[in-house]
Amino acid sequence: INQLYGPLNWFGTYYRMIQQNFIDMEKMLLLFKEQQSVKDLPDATELKVTDGSVIFENVGFSYDPRHPALNGISFEIPKGKTVALVGPSGGGKSTILRLLFRFYDADTGRILIDGQDIRTVEQESLRKNIGVVPQDTVLFNDTIYYNIHYGNINASEVEVHKAAKAAQIHDRILNFPDGYETRVGERGLRLSGGEKQRVAIARTILKQPPIILLDEATSALDTTTERQIQYALAQMTQDRTTLVIAHRLSTIVNADLILCIKDGKVVEQGTHDELIRKAEENGGDGIYYEMWQKQIKDESEGKVIVENEGSS
Ligand code: ATP
Repeated sequence: INQLYGPLNWFGTYYRMIQQNFIDMEKMLLLFKEQQSVKDLPDATELKVTDGSVIFENVGFSYDPRHPALNGISFEIPKGKTVALVGPSGGGKSTILRLLFRFYDADTGRILIDGQDIRTVEQESLRKNIGVVPQDTVLFNDTIYYNIHYGNINASEVEVHKAAKAAQIHDRILNFPDGYETRVGERGLRLSGGEKQRVAIARTILKQPPIILLDEATSALDTTTERQIQYALAQMTQDRTTLVIAHRLSTIVNADLILCIKDGKVVEQGTHDELIRKAEENGGDGIYYEMWQKQIKDESEGKVIVENEGSS
């Protein structure tokens, strides 16, 4: 009898892992439909995206009732704009992304996309409209072509190449032993972190979702790769509503709004210039200001570990 429960437990564990890490979600979600903690309402409707504007309205959520993870989170991302989430570890940044993708439903408050409460829409229609770029992308043991094409299985070869070019990975692929037919992943060519992230960006460019969730990689990259990633991210997020857990200074500085998340609350918000100016008026007081100063100091002291392209 225990053997019967084995696989189910395994599914459960695996599903929680996916919830945590956003691993290959769309495909896995189909496989694990029965395991989802969130169910469509009987009268769920299809999400109709016109602008892709996102509103969090007084959102509260806890994994464990004794420790609320989010408490009264409110913000808006107008059509095509970028909101960057920053703040200390455990503050609630990933939870905000998970709620928008509806891995969980908010306990209090509402999340609206173009005026529709996401709790009332079909999950499939929600996820079709959201592209996710995780920190660490898992590649399929298949060709690099397959791995990008997966973003939109109806795309033509020309479109796949165009997406790879925009994501700054096309030239690199042409230098692989079998070009686009090169097998990658655990049993094939191992890609570096910077390459894997550009594959994820190419997938998302191919998918063309109106809304993007991005968990930026923390690893520092050499200057050339950093510039390529920046360009690729700009191509991907251009005119798309973007919610990003930001680690790269360029992303933070260019964001339309920065939310500093601590203990499940928005403790500071504004553009980079606004937050710096406000802190300077207060004699350098402010979480964002301190983070910024530390980042500048770490970089000038060379504390940032640089990952070399192709080193892994
Ligand atoms: P980091 O920068 O380290 O990724 P974060 O700001 O993204 O942190 P979250 O991962 O959203 O923070 O976590 C917010 C709070 O919720 C933390 O107290 C964390 O311990 C808790 N938490 C996160 N995931 C779970 C889970 N699956 N079960 C229980 N508690 C969780």
